Amino acid sequence: MNQTTVVDAAFESQRAHKPSRVSCTVDFGADGKQFGYMTVPHSRDDSAWGSIQIPIIAIKNATGPTILFTAGSHGDEYEGPIALMNLARALDPAGLAGRVILVPTLNLPAIRTATRLSPIDGRNMNRVFPGSRDGTVTEVIADYVHRTLVPLADVVVDLHSGGKTLSFVPSAVMHYLDDPGLMDRTAAALKDFGAPIGLILRELDTQGMLDTAVEEMGKIFISTELGGSGTSTARSVAVAERGIRNMLHHFAILPGAPVPPEATGEPPTRMMATPEAECFTICADAGILEMAVDLGTEVKAGDLIGRVHFFEEPARAPVPYHAKISGMLLSRHMPGLIQRGDCLAVIATDLA
Ligand SMILES: [Zn+2]
Repeated sequence: MNQTTVVDAAFESQRAHKPSRVSCTVDFGADGKQFGYMTVPHSRDDSAWGSIQIPIIAIKNATGPTILFTAGSHGDEYEGPIALMNLARALDPAGLAGRVILVPTLNLPAIRTATRLSPIDGRNMNRVFPGSRDGTVTEVIADYVHRTLVPLADVVVDLHSGGKTLSFVPSAVMHYLDDPGLMDRTAAALKDFGAPIGLILRELDTQGMLDTAVEEMGKIFISTELGGSGTSTARSVAVAERGIRNMLHHFAILPGAPVPPEATGEPPTRMMATPEAECFTICADAGILEMAVDLGTEVKAGDLIGRVHFFEEPARAPVPYHAKISGMLLSRHMPGLIQRGDCLAVIATDLA
């Protein structure tokens, strides 16, 4: 270790021990239900000593595990914020054994502008973890979640959808994990979420994700991809609401067993995976996307899944895109225009 490294290590250690710049009005040790705010300093032209106030709700009773629900990490995904706000108002603390912490709109600035990225610093909330107390607004929020909220939790459920540029068959999601015990416990929770699809995902890029940060702490992490297209549907919200309540039953914070999809006449959760790069079709052209199959369709390797049209050269033949593997069309690009490098489609395969 050279002198510079020693100095850097001392500086990093000192910085790590500085408190978060976020203050919170909720007392996490108190019983009952508290609607509060996390206050993030944000001095700017229109508010010299201004701040961003992100709603947070804590509901606690008796003893039991703590579950942290987050949503609105991306500002164009709506099932999570709706379901968590509904749950926060509806839950009676007297019925709980444990603690429920809800953050329905984690990236509040992005929710206000209905954008995936924060309009303040252009950062993607789910790519900045573990965050930084000395960083930009998005990094400061992530730092608070990582150092204060996640350590309180035994399990973290982070609700996502496809946003404006993707749409999914509603899915609860986990990752392939190196720890077989954690993998089994997470898979059991995933199944009990009761989404139409229980998906084990191989991410294209895990750098900076809340998922990875929680998994590295050895905690159970469940995510979702509930719908997309920059809106929500009655069905996708219903899947979210059943799923988050099922998580409370699964971890015995609420009494009673999880309610499977079969109880409402739906097919059982289909356990699927995206184990290989061939599941993802990345577009190599820019133009108008014509899908040849819709979400949920079973495809065989080689089947046409879509074509990209060159709208300024109508004489030119569209470029076809074919399924590289057999499976089900889990996700597709939204909206009508597509660019080179965009994710055009995701095909999932049944778990063996
Ligand atoms: Zn998202």
